Amino acid sequence: MSEKEIKKSRRTFIKTVGAIGAGSMVASLAPFVNASEKSRSQKIAPMIVPTRPYGKTGVNVSILSLGGVLGMSDQLIFRQAMKMGVTYWDTADGYGWGKNEKAIGKYFAKFPTDREKVFLVTKAATSDPKKLTEKLNTSLQRMNTSYVDMYFIHYVKEVKEELTSEVKAWAEKAKTDGKIRLFGFSAHKNMENSMLAAAKLGWIDGIMMSYNYRLMVKDEMKRAVDACAKAGIGLTAMKSQAAFSAYFYASIGSETDEVLNMTESFLKKGYTEEQAKLKVVWENSNIASICSAMPNMTILQANVAAALNKNKLSLKDKQLFEQYAQKTASGYCVGCADICESAVNFRVPISDVLRCSMYYNSYKDRDKALALFNTLPTDQKTNICKTDYSIAEKKCPQKIQIGKILKKTHEDLS
Ligand code: SF4
Repeated sequence: MSEKEIKKSRRTFIKTVGAIGAGSMVASLAPFVNASEKSRSQKIAPMIVPTRPYGKTGVNVSILSLGGVLGMSDQLIFRQAMKMGVTYWDTADGYGWGKNEKAIGKYFAKFPTDREKVFLVTKAATSDPKKLTEKLNTSLQRMNTSYVDMYFIHYVKEVKEELTSEVKAWAEKAKTDGKIRLFGFSAHKNMENSMLAAAKLGWIDGIMMSYNYRLMVKDEMKRAVDACAKAGIGLTAMKSQAAFSAYFYASIGSETDEVLNMTESFLKKGYTEEQAKLKVVWENSNIASICSAMPNMTILQANVAAALNKNKLSLKDKQLFEQYAQKTASGYCVGCADICESAVNFRVPISDVLRCSMYYNSYKDRDKALALFNTLPTDQKTNICKTDYSIAEKKCPQKIQIGKILKKTHEDLS
C-alpha cells in the first residue's frame, strides 16, 4: 500500500468513527426528543435546538437553520427538523427550479399549524421591484403560505447599486401588505463591504453571508459583524463548512497531517470536524443562526447534536483550525471585493464560477451548480476559456489556481 493509500484508509477509518460518534450522540437524542414530547405535560424541559435573538428585530430563531435543496420525498426531514426545534427554514425561488419551495408547500398543506412555528425565509436574485413582486407571489403560492418571515435579495454584491430607494419602497409595501415580515439580502462575495454599507442604511433587518472558521478571523469580517450587531441586523452564517472549490485534495495529496490531527483531536472531545466547524461559528453570539444544507437524516441529526453539545472549543482547537485554514487556503475562495476580476483581460465572474465548482465537486450537487452557472451572462461564460489568469493568480490572496479550475468547471457545466 502506498503512503497516499495508507493516509486515505486512515482518514476513512477516522471519518467512520466520527460518523459513529455523531450517530451515538444522536441515537441518545432521538428517543430524548420523542420523550420530551410526552414529557411536556410533566413540565420537563424539552431538549430542542436553542434559539437566539435575530438582531434587534424582536424575533428569536433556532441557531441551526434547515438549508439546501429538499424535494417532495424529503417530508420526514421537515418533520424531524420541527421536532428537534430546527424551526428556521431557508429556501430560494431558484433552488431546484422551485422544487424546494414546493416541498415546503407540501409539508404546510399536511401540517398547517406548523407554519406559525417556522421562521420561513426565501430569496430572489433580482433588484427589479416588478420582478420581486412576481417572484414573491410565486414563492408564496408554492409554499402554501400568505407570508414569509424574511425575504432576501439573493447574491447581493454591491449594496449601493442593488439596494436602491425603489427596493426600499418595495420592501415597505410588501411589509404593509403582510407578505413579508422582514427584509434583507444574502452575500457570497464582497460580504464585508456589503455588511458595512447595510449597517448604515437603517432599513435592512437581516443578512445571510458566507462566514466560517476561515473568514471569521479576518479583521474586516470582525468589523462588519460588529457594525451589523450595533445596527440591530440579524446575521445568518452560511458556507460554514468552507468546502473546497475543486481538485484541491488532488493537488496536495488526498490527506494531510493537519487534517488528520485536527480530525483526531476533535473526535477525542466527542465531535467530528464538521460539527466543530459549526461550533466555532456559534461561539460568536452575534451570529443568530447557521444555515446548513441537511439533505438527509444523518446530517440533520449530527448538526442538531452539535447544537446541543455544550463543550466549548479550546484555544488549541482554534489554533488547529487556523493552521488548517492556512495550509488549505488555495482550495477556498474568500469572495474578495475586486482583486482577481480586475486583473484579467476579459470580463469573467471568477468567484461565482469558483462557487459553481464548489457546488459541483464538493457538494456533489450538479443541479445547484448548474442553477448558478446558468444565471451567469453568456458572454462572460464564453470568456472563461480565452482569458489569461496569470496576473489574477499572482494577486489572489488565497493563491488559487484560478485558470485551471475555471476552465474545468466550464467543461463540466457547459
Ligand atoms: S482573488 Fe482569489 S480569493 Fe479573492 S475572489 Fe478572486 S479567486 Fe477568490
